Amino acid sequence: MISFEKGIKIEGVPFHLDARTKVDFSFVSHAHFDHIAPHRKVLATPETLLFFRHRYKKVVARALPLRRKQTIGGVKVELFPSGHILGGAQILLEHRGKRIVYTGDFTLSPGWTSPPAEIPKSDIVIMESTYGLPRYQFPTREEVADLICRKTEETFAQGKTPIFLAYPLGKSQEAAKLLGERGYAVFVHPTIFEICKIYARCGVEFKNLDVLSNQSTARKAVIIPPYLWRSRMAAQLAPKKVFFLSGWGLDEGSRQSFKADEVLPLSDHADFAQLLAYLEEAQPEKVYTLHGFVEFAEILRQRGFDAQSLEAPLETPSLKINADGVKFLPSLFNPKS
Ligand SMILES: [Zn+2]
Repeated sequence: MISFEKGIKIEGVPFHLDARTKVDFSFVSHAHFDHIAPHRKVLATPETLLFFRHRYKKVVARALPLRRKQTIGGVKVELFPSGHILGGAQILLEHRGKRIVYTGDFTLSPGWTSPPAEIPKSDIVIMESTYGLPRYQFPTREEVADLICRKTEETFAQGKTPIFLAYPLGKSQEAAKLLGERGYAVFVHPTIFEICKIYARCGVEFKNLDVLSNQSTARKAVIIPPYLWRSRMAAQLAPKKVFFLSGWGLDEGSRQSFKADEVLPLSDHADFAQLLAYLEEAQPEKVYTLHGFVEFAEILRQRGFDAQSLEAPLETPSLKINADGVKFLPSLFNPKS
């Protein structure tokens, strides 16, 4: 009934869920690079459609705001916040007598630019489970906020500029929002600034924010996409200290892998405890896991859930080391992700 082919496909439902290659009609949970493709027609929140159109101009858009029921091709659908990035949504489908939820990327932690995920009651959950091992236990958002600000202060005290590497949609805006609200002047790369402007159209205001050009960066916090960390532009920002913002920062060796001075564990995904908390509240009769570690479905089975992985998992979901040092997954690396 539920299969993974180009994305998630549910028999009898007239659209894919987060199809990864072009299809006729897909629900798009959020606009990260690894969840979108130039589909002919897209179902998404109005915010996600703005980001989608920022990348793909030609699309037939079916906007569905959060918590508004609609019937599409005989299937009742409703979207709930996912907490992942602005506009991110889970989808609830009432189909053949079952309530099926696809979470997309989600977190139960409240962000600085988007509310946390809700947990709708469901019979079947298709769960994004990137960090599905017990060792992934993130600090609270408040602890991460204090850590980022403390590192900023320490870097200033060393007479250096803190450079934060963050992917341009979502993580960058979270960092810009936090640092600006805490009173730091923030410069962001033009790619990030364009997306901040879309956030502003959606009502997310940024304080102390400017676009990075040739100004002095003394006592400024700078946010650039990870793919620019070795660019000429970044080289001109010396002296500097480089911080990668990623949940993979919990892994030993992530600093070397990301080639940053430090990795700070700011994540927009659920950690292991949140994945379990979600399922304990939703109490589904069936769980399909997606992304992440093969062991997670087994862990769930040991805890009494009827769980299985929906796709062949990656051997190492976080990083793949190559001859150049590191190759990031698209979601971490791609400029549009
Ligand atoms: Zn994502």
